Amino acid sequence: MNRDKLSCHDPEEEVLEMIWLIEEEGLEPTLEQIMAKNIHDAADMKMLERLVRGGFLRRDGEHFRFTESGRERGEIVIRRHRLAERLLVDVLSIRDMSFETTACRFEHVLTPEVTDHICTLLGHPRTCPHGKTIPPGPCCLRAEKSLETVVVRLSELGAGESGRITYISTADHHRLDRLSALGVFPGRLVRVHQSEPLFVIFLGETQLALEKEIVGEIFVIRNGRTDR
Ligand SMILES: [Zn+2]
Ligand SMILES: [Zn+2]
Repeated sequence: MNRDKLSCHDPEEEVLEMIWLIEEEGLEPTLEQIMAKNIHDAADMKMLERLVRGGFLRRDGEHFRFTESGRERGEIVIRRHRLAERLLVDVLSIRDMSFETTACRFEHVLTPEVTDHICTLLGHPRTCPHGKTIPPGPCCLRAEKSLETVVVRLSELGAGESGRITYISTADHHRLDRLSALGVFPGRLVRVHQSEPLFVIFLGETQLALEKEIVGEIFVIRNGRTDR
């Protein structure tokens, strides 16, 4: 077996993930299809039998189907994986293919609490960077009821509106340093003074004019209107 002993792969979760992906393609997972995907060589007959014994899969002739608890666990793995992808691409601006492998390692170490924090930080995204559906978690259902938690680009706020910076998405590290030197960093409350012709914000008492391009890279949780 050529499994990387140092990585934090969880072979059971990898197999549940593969079965989820096969179902997502509209197919009924067979041993052959699972072996064709075989992420990190996690799947073999022994592993599949273990998942059947553990009550996560049901064997049905040549098909392997989720039990209810298997589907629940698979959904959690998929959700973590796709949120990890979003985090790497949106917040850390990792746009090359290395985000794929990093997301893979990431997904097994995120606790449910951290997963929901990431989801909230990202504004409860519905799709991963590949356009696949992210199964909603408890945080998403809560957020649907309160519009306050919606993350938008700063450029979408109008004059008089304010928001708290959640993250800045730029591949340009110098720009990030410059912004944080100006006091523009996650956690800060910003109020839009005007959006035309220059985008001018208030950070506390400090007034700051920002380039349009930069304004589109700053993400905030909308705070509603304030009168001052
Ligand atoms: Zn994806
Ligand atoms: Zn959420």
